[in-house]
Amino acid sequence: MTIIDTHVHLDHLENPEQALQEARGAGVEALVAVGVDLASCRKNLDYQNRISAPRIYLGFGIHPGNIKSDEIEETILWIREHHEKAQAIGEIGLDFWYKWARRDKEKKDEQRRVFARQLALAKEFDLPTVVHARGTWREAFEMTKQAGIKRAVFHWYSGPLDVLKDIIDGGYFVSASPALADSPQSREAIQNAPIEQILIETDSPVFFRYRDQGGGFMAAPKDVFSTLKAYVELKNIDGDLARVQFNRNARNFFRMNDLPDC
Ligand SMILES: [Zn+2]
Repeated sequence: MTIIDTHVHLDHLENPEQALQEARGAGVEALVAVGVDLASCRKNLDYQNRISAPRIYLGFGIHPGNIKSDEIEETILWIREHHEKAQAIGEIGLDFWYKWARRDKEKKDEQRRVFARQLALAKEFDLPTVVHARGTWREAFEMTKQAGIKRAVFHWYSGPLDVLKDIIDGGYFVSASPALADSPQSREAIQNAPIEQILIETDSPVFFRYRDQGGGFMAAPKDVFSTLKAYVELKNIDGDLARVQFNRNARNFFRMNDLPDC
């Protein structure tokens, strides 16, 4: 009964070592730790060097909400130098939802430039991309496609169905996240996406909110089973079939070739 969590902010967890131990106990076999800036990528690499179970795979990237103008060059250089340690470029993308970006054309353009440069890195090193695109799904999709990216996951997808259709037709993925328990947009998207093009994740330590029950908790990697449960309830599908398919998707998408079968 093992599972893979494909999107974790390991360095943001309150107690990463403990969370990893609990995840291992719960049956999380592997996870993808995505970076949001240089410090975050470095910390996650350090966890990978020190901890062998669950297996930690890495995404390197600058998140649109974590761009520091004077650090961009250094970070891109670092990613270039360490790309062999990465299974993906991410978390990268656009986010015009932030107040500071909403009405600031220069800030938006900077996000676009940083995203484009990282898409080019993914293309150069033949790595998949983990794309964050709150409120800008169409533009993020077009940029990804135009960059010639073959493997991309539109993480936490909660955009319109016409963009979803283009994502699916383009052979890309969307993620089933804790939003499934709470967001009508996420539920509608996942309802309409084929299971073969869905990755499952926690985005931990995001707040995992239950719409109908009025409660919630800070997610950790072990809670990927809660995302699975939300998916199983939404689709009324056998839980083990879904789990096995999600594991297969994650292995292929991130090329986890050294991970034993589960
Ligand atoms: Zn994230």
